[in-house]
Amino acid sequence: MSNTTTLGYHDASVLYATTDFSKLNWIELQWASWYLMIGNPVIATGLASFLLHEIVYFGRAIPWIIIDATPYFRKWKLQPNKIPTPGEQWACTKQVLFSHFTVELPVIWLFHPMAEFFGMSTWQVPFPAWSAIAPQVFFFFVFEDMFHYFAHQALHWGPLYKHIHKIHHQYPAPFGLAAEYAHPAEVFILGTGTILGPILYCMFRHDLHIFTVYIWITLRLFQAIDSHSGYDFPWSLQNWLPIWSGAEHHDFHHMAFVNNFSTSFRWCDRIFGTDTKYRAYRARLNAAKKAGLSPEEYARMEIKLNEEAGREGVEAEKVAENAGFGAGWSGKTKVA
Ligand SMILES: [Zn+2]
Ligand SMILES: [Zn+2]
Repeated sequence: MSNTTTLGYHDASVLYATTDFSKLNWIELQWASWYLMIGNPVIATGLASFLLHEIVYFGRAIPWIIIDATPYFRKWKLQPNKIPTPGEQWACTKQVLFSHFTVELPVIWLFHPMAEFFGMSTWQVPFPAWSAIAPQVFFFFVFEDMFHYFAHQALHWGPLYKHIHKIHHQYPAPFGLAAEYAHPAEVFILGTGTILGPILYCMFRHDLHIFTVYIWITLRLFQAIDSHSGYDFPWSLQNWLPIWSGAEHHDFHHMAFVNNFSTSFRWCDRIFGTDTKYRAYRARLNAAKKAGLSPEEYARMEIKLNEEAGREGVEAEKVAENAGFGAGWSGKTKVA
């Protein structure tokens, strides 16, 4: 436990009594200035965490709002005939803000005491080296992806689906802002996957800085918002890194209701066989692409396939809602 506890969280300047400021880089100096300016490390960490989340979430969602309003980008929309209206986007924003202030703000406020309890560095400068940060962030990506894969499938089981996860599935054609559009319990359950990796790492290795956790949360928010964007550009990450899920993978989950339960990577769905319908759908689209159809014919074909998957999705959702105790909770076993 760091000495902030013994200081009684009153005077941040005491924390830096032995720090050599001449050896710090620009961002480390800003970091120390923030803690010195706020004075109380609990409030400084809580406020920084909340602001980071809000700025990254809405900052990343804004480009997608502009893209949705620009017809030029329509050719890369995964469900080209389903553009969110400004009314839908505003309703979604209000719900997301409500859950940020009611669920996430109190949790984020507990972050500093929790971080210190597990021995995480917070106000300390200098930061760890990039060679230490990169593998830690990679571990958090892998851990969250696996946690999410199983927790998300559990949320597709009847009672949990009906009372919790159904809200997130309100949009069969999602958009960036809808990434955190979910029941407060879902925000809590799936948010655990994001935060548990750093906590476990800290418990076993005792060498984690909250700056690394902020990098991880920023990348995770980009991942979540981009995978809900509804666009697959030639320059999208999944077209360069084939194990990356991206929008092309998660959009199908919203459209067809089944398959593709993971967040960042494709390997869990492939290993456990929960991507068979998705791969069949992709194979049909690729065959249409190779068949030499005109752009108009291809667009018609794509909409027809999407409507087919959407109709099956509506049926699969009904099956999930009616499943109760004793029924399987995997999307694979129920609606294969
Ligand atoms: Zn789902
Ligand atoms: Zn989603």
